[in-house]
Amino acid sequence: MSDIVIIGGGIVGLSTAYYLSNEGHRVTVLDKGEISGNCSYGNAGMIVPSHFVPLASPGMISKGIRWMFNSKSPFYVRPSFSRELIGWGLQFIKHANARHVKEAAIPLRDLSLLSHQLYTSMAEKPGFNFGLQHRGILAFYKTEKAAEEEAHLVKDAAALGLDMAVLNAAECKALQPGLELNVLGAVHYRCDAHLSPMALMDALQAYLRQKGVTILPNHEAVRMVTGNGTLQAVEANGQIFRADQFVLATGSWSPGVARKMGIKVPLLPGKGYSFMRPNTGGIVQIPALLCEARVAITPMQDRIRYGGTMELGRMNEKVNMNRVEGIVSAIPEYFPNLEVQMPAASEVWHGYRPSSPDGLPMIGFSNKLKNLIVATGHGMMGLSLGPATGLLVSQLLTGQKPDINLSPFSPERF
Ligand SMILES: Cc1cc2nc3c(=O)[nH]c(=O)nc-3n(C[C@H](O)[C@H](O)[C@H](O)COP(=O)(O)OP(=O)(O)OC[C@H]3O[C@@H](n4cnc5c(N)ncnc54)[C@H](O)[C@@H]3O)c2cc1C
Repeated sequence: MSDIVIIGGGIVGLSTAYYLSNEGHRVTVLDKGEISGNCSYGNAGMIVPSHFVPLASPGMISKGIRWMFNSKSPFYVRPSFSRELIGWGLQFIKHANARHVKEAAIPLRDLSLLSHQLYTSMAEKPGFNFGLQHRGILAFYKTEKAAEEEAHLVKDAAALGLDMAVLNAAECKALQPGLELNVLGAVHYRCDAHLSPMALMDALQAYLRQKGVTILPNHEAVRMVTGNGTLQAVEANGQIFRADQFVLATGSWSPGVARKMGIKVPLLPGKGYSFMRPNTGGIVQIPALLCEARVAITPMQDRIRYGGTMELGRMNEKVNMNRVEGIVSAIPEYFPNLEVQMPAASEVWHGYRPSSPDGLPMIGFSNKLKNLIVATGHGMMGLSLGPATGLLVSQLLTGQKPDINLSPFSPERF
C-alpha cells in the first residue's frame, strides 16, 4: 500500500483517487478551493468519443483570427506579449495540420471510449446517480459549409468505427417532436453520451470520503520540497504532506504549480461560460452542438445547460456578457421555439479549460521528478476523458501496464 497525494480535486484528480482507492492505496486529495466550482462542475457534461479532432487542427488559425474581431464570437485569443502565450501559440501553429489530426484521432478515440465504458460501470454502483444517458449528441448545422465540414468528420468517424448517422431536418424533428428546427440537418453521434457534472462530482466526493480517501478543500499546494530527483513533500494550509507518489491534477493552474516543482507544463486557460434554464415540457432530450455557433446545449435532470465560448489567455474573473449574448442569440436561430432569457451576470458560471498547445492531454511520469505523474491538459474534453485518465494514472502508479499506449500523451513531448 502506498501513500499518494493528488494535487487538484477536479474530475481528473477525483477519478484518479477513485481508481487508486479501489486498489487499496492511502490517498489524499488537496484542493485550493471548495471543490464545488471548478471546471469539472459547470461544463456541458458531454462524453464525446466523436471529438477525435484536437483543437490544434487546420483552419483553426484563420478562424481564430477572424473571430478575434467579433465581440460575440465563440473563440477569442487575448493578445499579449507574455512568454507563455507566445510559446503556446508557436506550438499550436506547429500542430495545426492534417498530419497531427490524423495521428491524434486513434489515441483520443481510445481514451474517450475507455472513459465511456468506465462511466457506464461507475453508474452501476450504488450512490452513483449522475444522470448518465446514452442518447448520443446531435451536431446541428445550418449552412452548406458546416454540412460539408461535418461530412468530412463523418467519413473519419466511420473509419474509426464510431456509431453515428447523418439526419435531414425531418429526421431530426422526429427525434424531438416538440422542438422547432431551422437547420439543414445534423449528425447524430450515437457513440456519445451525457451526464450531470454536478451530480457526478458530488457522488464521487461522497464515495471517496466513505472509502477513506482524505479530501482537503482550501488546501492550496504552495510549496514543494524536491530532492534526489523526487518530489518529497507539498506544503498546503500550513501542513506538510509527504507521500510515496504525487499526482499533479491542477487543471488550468498547472503551469504555475509545476513551475514551483521545477518542471514545465505548457497550458493556457480556455475560459468558457455556462448557465442553466428550465427544460420546460422536456423539450430537449438529446444534447445538441450548434456547429456554426459553437454552443453546447445539454439536458440535465429537469433543466438545460447552455455553454460555450473559448477565451484563451490569462485567467480573469470578469464575465464578458457580449459573449454570453453570443450564446443566447444563437439558440433561436437553430430552435425557434426554444425561448432562452438572457441570464444576469450572477447566473453565469465560468471555468477554465486546461488547454494544451496540441490539444491532447498530458498523462505520464515527469522525467525530472520520478515519483510525480502529470495528469492535465484535457482542454475541451476533460469531463469526457477523466475516468480513463484516472484509471491509466492508477495503473502507472501501481506498476501495471496501462490499458492504452500513453506515448502520444507524454507530458515531456513539448
Ligand atoms: C463551458 C465549458 C463546457 C465544457 N464542456 C465539456 C463537455 O461537455 N465535455 C467535456 O469532456 N469537457 C467539457 N469541458 C472541459 C472540462 O470541464 C475540463 O476539461 C475539465 O473539467 C478539467 O478537469 P480538471 O480536473 O483537469 O481541472 P479542474 O476541474 O479545473 O480541477 C482542477 C482543480 O485543481 C485545483 N487547484 C489548482 N491549483 C491548486 C493548488 N496549487 N493546490 C491545490 N489545488 C489546486 C483547483 O482548485 C481545481 O479544483 C467544458 C469546459 C467549459 C469551460
